[in-house]
Amino acid sequence: MKVTVFGSGYVGLVTGTCLAEVGNEVLCVDIDEQKIAMLKRGKVPIYEPGLDALVQKNIEGKRLNFTTDVTQGVAHGLFQFIAVGTPPDEDGSADLQYVLAVARNIGEHMKDYRIVVNKSTVPVGTADKVRETIRKTLEKQGASLEFDVVSNPEFLKEGAAVEDFMKPDRVIIGTDNPRTTELLRVLYAPFNRNHDRLVAMDIRSAELTKYAANAMLATKISFMNEMANLAEKLGANIEQVRLGIGADPRIGYHFIYPGCGYGGSCFPKDVKALERIAREVDYNAELLNAVETVNNRQKQSLFHKIRHHFEGQLSERTIALWGLAFKPNTDDMREAPSRTLMEALWEAGARIQAYDPVARDEARRIYGNRQELVLCETPEAALQGADALAVVTEWNVFRSLDFEMVKTSLKAPVVFDGRNLYDPALMASQGIIHYSIGRPVMT
Ligand code: NAD
Repeated sequence: MKVTVFGSGYVGLVTGTCLAEVGNEVLCVDIDEQKIAMLKRGKVPIYEPGLDALVQKNIEGKRLNFTTDVTQGVAHGLFQFIAVGTPPDEDGSADLQYVLAVARNIGEHMKDYRIVVNKSTVPVGTADKVRETIRKTLEKQGASLEFDVVSNPEFLKEGAAVEDFMKPDRVIIGTDNPRTTELLRVLYAPFNRNHDRLVAMDIRSAELTKYAANAMLATKISFMNEMANLAEKLGANIEQVRLGIGADPRIGYHFIYPGCGYGGSCFPKDVKALERIAREVDYNAELLNAVETVNNRQKQSLFHKIRHHFEGQLSERTIALWGLAFKPNTDDMREAPSRTLMEALWEAGARIQAYDPVARDEARRIYGNRQELVLCETPEAALQGADALAVVTEWNVFRSLDFEMVKTSLKAPVVFDGRNLYDPALMASQGIIHYSIGRPVMT
């Protein structure tokens, strides 16, 4: 089948590439000329495991093409996927300008029936706005063509995006036209072989499902962080509490890890956007407000521990920081806890020596060549001569700590463990002062 995908970011590029991989003819359209030029050469601008090889293979197989030409994009696919960004507006609501720009493009250039599939995360009611925009654009040109608008939210996780797209937990299809559901069932059939994962529903429910899923996951994290903070004050150990509650199958062990807060392009923006959506229908979403407040506080937790340890004296201090990306296996630093920590430390006069396996270029792009930030090539280099180590992202490479290296490289053996990677008793037995989240400091 012929598919056009608007937006070649994390979601659009993975969607386009995976659809090409199973035999479709895919054309990806983006307004970013540099990005498209890179992609045409087979160079992937983001870090996503397995994506480079798949992009190259499908370009060579002539199933995957890239363009900035909207006319060509609209002419190409029966399916017109929208996978552009929906960043937060100033008031926290989702900014729909990119989604509606694509809708206008489709209306301006379509000559035939099209199925417009929205993959971007958008407020409930957006499909109606997309439909209206296309209809009005067609009307202006005196055209009257048939088209359908579908909500097909994406659930892939950065860092495992290809795997998630190829083996989805579920494929949500929101339509008001059963014939469209059947066409999408055929498009998704290669990813739906083991058992039926397609969940068809009305459009508004599909749009809300995406926000509900992300809000639930964010709630789990903030809940555990709230418990961790309580555990610290009460002299309990949150990791033992985690094991104790996870054993209940109604709670389960998944996604209940305490830490230094969630970041990324989705949870913070989607929780905020859902709060706004609620406000617009006169509903005060108190739980969502609290999830966000707890997370903002949690992102400051390592800074408070560091400041407390150094008795407020942070100017002239150097902190080694392991992990810049908001989570492992990605180079994405949008709303990353590392940024909150670094900016608070800079404000207090400290310097940072940071290491991340893949996000150094992204850090350079965000912060330029700031003097207070040294981006190191190895974890060891980041430790050299620093006053303490802060671990912010749980990359596998950080999990097994070389105690001797920490002791010989740092000025004093102090570790702030934002992801509870290390065992407090073992750290104490090695003579390392170890602060973590929701666990007592052992001596
Ligand atoms: P992104 O910022 O990585 O990519 C968006 C791309 O759209 C950019 O390359 C941009 O140049 C392009 N674009 C903007 N306007 C355009 C236009 N008019 N025509 C063509 N291209 C245009 O964004 P992303 O992370 O891929 O997210 C896209 C959407 O998917 C968002 O709504 C997001 O909430 C949602 N989502 C993201 C994830 C994730 O993990 N990143 C997961 C699920 C859903």
